[in-house]
Amino acid sequence: MTNDTREHGFTTAILHGDRESSIEHGAVHKPLHLSVAYGYRDAADLIAVFQGRASGYAYGRQGNPTTAALEAKVTAMEQGVATVCFSTGMAAIGAIMLSLLKGGDHVVSSAYVFGNTNSLLGTLADHGTPVTFVDATSAENVERALTPRTRLVFVETIANPRTQVADLVRIGALCRERGLVYVVDNTMTSPWLFRPATVDASLVVNALTKYIGGHGNALGGAVTDTGRYDWTRYPNIAENYKSQKPAMWGITQLRKKGLRDFGATLGAEPAHHIAVGAETLALRMDRQCANAQALAEFLVAHPKVRAVHYPGLAPHPQHGLAKALFRAPGALFSFELADGCDVLAVLNRLRTVVLSSNLGDNRTLAIPVAQTIYWEMGPARRAEMGIADSLVRVSVGIEDRDDLIADFAQALATA
Ligand SMILES: *Cc1c(COP(=O)(O)O)cnc(C)c1O
Repeated sequence: MTNDTREHGFTTAILHGDRESSIEHGAVHKPLHLSVAYGYRDAADLIAVFQGRASGYAYGRQGNPTTAALEAKVTAMEQGVATVCFSTGMAAIGAIMLSLLKGGDHVVSSAYVFGNTNSLLGTLADHGTPVTFVDATSAENVERALTPRTRLVFVETIANPRTQVADLVRIGALCRERGLVYVVDNTMTSPWLFRPATVDASLVVNALTKYIGGHGNALGGAVTDTGRYDWTRYPNIAENYKSQKPAMWGITQLRKKGLRDFGATLGAEPAHHIAVGAETLALRMDRQCANAQALAEFLVAHPKVRAVHYPGLAPHPQHGLAKALFRAPGALFSFELADGCDVLAVLNRLRTVVLSSNLGDNRTLAIPVAQTIYWEMGPARRAEMGIADSLVRVSVGIEDRDDLIADFAQALATA
C-alpha cells in the first residue's frame, strides 16, 4: 500500500505542512495559540464566522489555530476531507455517538473493542440506543445483527489485547451497500500502517495519545471524515448543517454537537506535543513493529509460554488478512504463560519493560490484562473474550531489540 499524502510522501507532508500552509514569523512549528477569545473589528466578520460563512475562531472550546494545524496533519495522513480533534480518544468516540445517533437507533459493534469503548457503548444502550456486539472477524456476523434501525457499525483494526483483526474489507462493502456509517478505530495501526479509507470507512478514529503522539506525554483524539460516505443518505443530520456541501454535513454536525456542545476540546499545548510526535510516526512504528515481531517470535518459542497472540505470526487466524491490509502487523501483542507459571512474579522481574496500562509509547509497556484493564468486566465476559488469567499485553517500544529479548528472557528464566 502507499501512504503518500496527495502531494508529498507521508513524513514530508507532516514535517512541512505547517510551514507551507501558513508561515508565522517563519516558524517551522505551528505556534501555541492560548487565547480563549478571538476579537473582531467588524461585527460582520464576527457574524460570518459564527454562521460558518467564513473560516475563523470564535471561542477556544470550538478550536484554536494550533489544534487546527494538527487536524490538517491528521487529515493528510488519512487522506480524508476533514478532521476534528478532541481532548482524548474516548472523547472522539463519545462525540461520534452523541452527535450522530438518536434514541431508538441501533449500533453494531465489534465485541473486541477497547475496554472503555465497550463500557461507553453500554452507557449508550442505557440511554436508548441499543448496541449489538458481534465477532467482527467475519462480516456475516455483522450482517446478521443489522436491523432496520441500524445506523452505524463500529470496529477496530487490530483489537487489543487479543489482536483479532476485523473483517475490514467485507464490512466496508456491507456498510456501503446498506448506507451505514462505518466507523473504524485506527489507533492500533495508525495511518502509517493502514488507511481505513481504503476499505470504505466513513469515519476514522485515532487516539492521538497512542502511536501518533507516541511519547506518552499528551492525551488527544481525532475523527476524520474520509469522504466515502454519502451524508445525504443519513437521516440524523440537522437541517441547519445542510447549508454546506454534503461531504461536510457529518463532520460539521460532529464539530458542533460533538465538540462545541460536549466540550472535550483539545488544548493547544497537547496539540503541539502530538504534532511534534507525529513527525516521527513512520520511523517509530517501523522500529516498534520490527521489535514486536522479534519479541513475539522469541516468546512463541519459549517453553514457559503457552500462546502468543500477534497477527505477525503465521498461526494467527487473521495473519493473511493483516499481511494483505497492513504495512506491518502492529506493535502490540499478548501472550499467555504455561500452566503453573506465576504471571505477577514474571512481570515483577522485568527491568527494562515498564508495568503500565498505556500503549503506543516509545517505551515497552506490559500489563496483566485480567487483573487490570479487564477486571471490571468480570470473569464470565473475560472468558467469552478469551482473556486468560495469565494473559500479558505488551506494547512494544523503540528500545534496542536485544535489550527487550534479554529482559523477557531473564524474567521468564525462573518462572
Ligand atoms: C487508548 C485507546 C482509545 C482511547 O484513547 P484515549 O486517548 O486514552 O481516550 C480508543 N481506542 C483505542 C483502540 C485505544 O487503544
